[in-house]
Amino acid sequence: MKMENTLSGMLPEEIRALMSLDAAESFRSRQIFRWISKGVFDFSDMTNIPLKQREQMACEYTVCSSFPRKTLQDPDGTMKIQMDLHDGTAVETVLLVDSEGRKTACVSCQAGCPMGCAFCKTGSLGFNRNLMPGEIVEQFLCLEKKAGKLDNIVFMGMGEPLLNLEAIRKTIAILTSPEGRGLSRRRITVSTAGICSGIYDLADNGPDIRLAVSLTTGDSALREKLMPVEKTNPLPELKKALAYFCKKTGGRVTLEAVLLKGVNMTEEHADKLRDFCRGLNSNINLIPWNPAEGLPFSRPSPAETKTFADSLRKSGLNVTVRHPRGRSISGACGQLGRTKNAEESGKTGGRD
Ligand code: SAH
Ligand code: SF4
Repeated sequence: MKMENTLSGMLPEEIRALMSLDAAESFRSRQIFRWISKGVFDFSDMTNIPLKQREQMACEYTVCSSFPRKTLQDPDGTMKIQMDLHDGTAVETVLLVDSEGRKTACVSCQAGCPMGCAFCKTGSLGFNRNLMPGEIVEQFLCLEKKAGKLDNIVFMGMGEPLLNLEAIRKTIAILTSPEGRGLSRRRITVSTAGICSGIYDLADNGPDIRLAVSLTTGDSALREKLMPVEKTNPLPELKKALAYFCKKTGGRVTLEAVLLKGVNMTEEHADKLRDFCRGLNSNINLIPWNPAEGLPFSRPSPAETKTFADSLRKSGLNVTVRHPRGRSISGACGQLGRTKNAEESGKTGGRD
């Protein structure tokens, strides 16, 4: 089946154009769009469409281009689905459940990632390709099908969203459409390693969503070692871009800092984070490093994490600590890392 005939990445108007439906039949494309947003991927289940038309559609079109090969479940409620894409590429997508039972889809926007952050498993794999809107929408819908209605979506899986911004925009347009899933923009967070041009683009052209930035440290020399993005998007430029974003959108940004034991957690590092935050409408989210095989870092103890968080809090900063979720299935931040299904291509079955 050709990718151009896959409907999951299309808005009703595009479905109508693809199927050459005339104005009088535009309601059909809206019906199809609504079914897909409810996780109905099989034309035969779209019961308000005449049987003959359903059969014809099934010959010409497909709803999804990827399929969930394997689902892994952590006792803490985290679920990870390994999705095989149409061209043999693979990505992972994660469902997180917080202590209050809120469900969040953490989706991937690229297979691999070109940014090369030293502490991240995805970054260590290199870059395969950008995902298409439908491939991102399908991650959300597959998780929702398995776990029931989801509350939030975060673009914090594999890849750098601001390097695939048009696909992110389209995904958001589809998921927020009142004719379909109707997800609220307030429930959407995009996390970037800190690409200034993309932050300005988001501020100027939307969509109006929540923004998180992986700051990691306020020490530029250290940041350059940990995150190559610092070379072309240095901290002072990043701060300017974030201030512009906050002013333009009237919102605040979340600064994420992965905590690396013995690397970015001294009092001096706390000072530099404070400097960065000064005058910026922000809150800080600390993420104790999640182990990823082969990477030369270690996780701070809870006491070390608390000392660092308390030091920041004393100066009035709003600090939260992200609790690890899904570590038994390598589903926590920075642990996602499957970009090809080659190792399984010789096998049959396995699809769930
Ligand atoms: N590329 C985007 C979004 C995906 S990474 C970005 O970098 O923001 C999502 C978050 O996981 C980032 O804040 C990143 O700093 C963090 N992260 C990466 N590797 C990690 C690891 N091993 N342990 C904990 N957090 C990690
Ligand atoms: Fe890419 Fe984000 Fe990992 Fe950096 S932390 S390598 S930007 S996925």
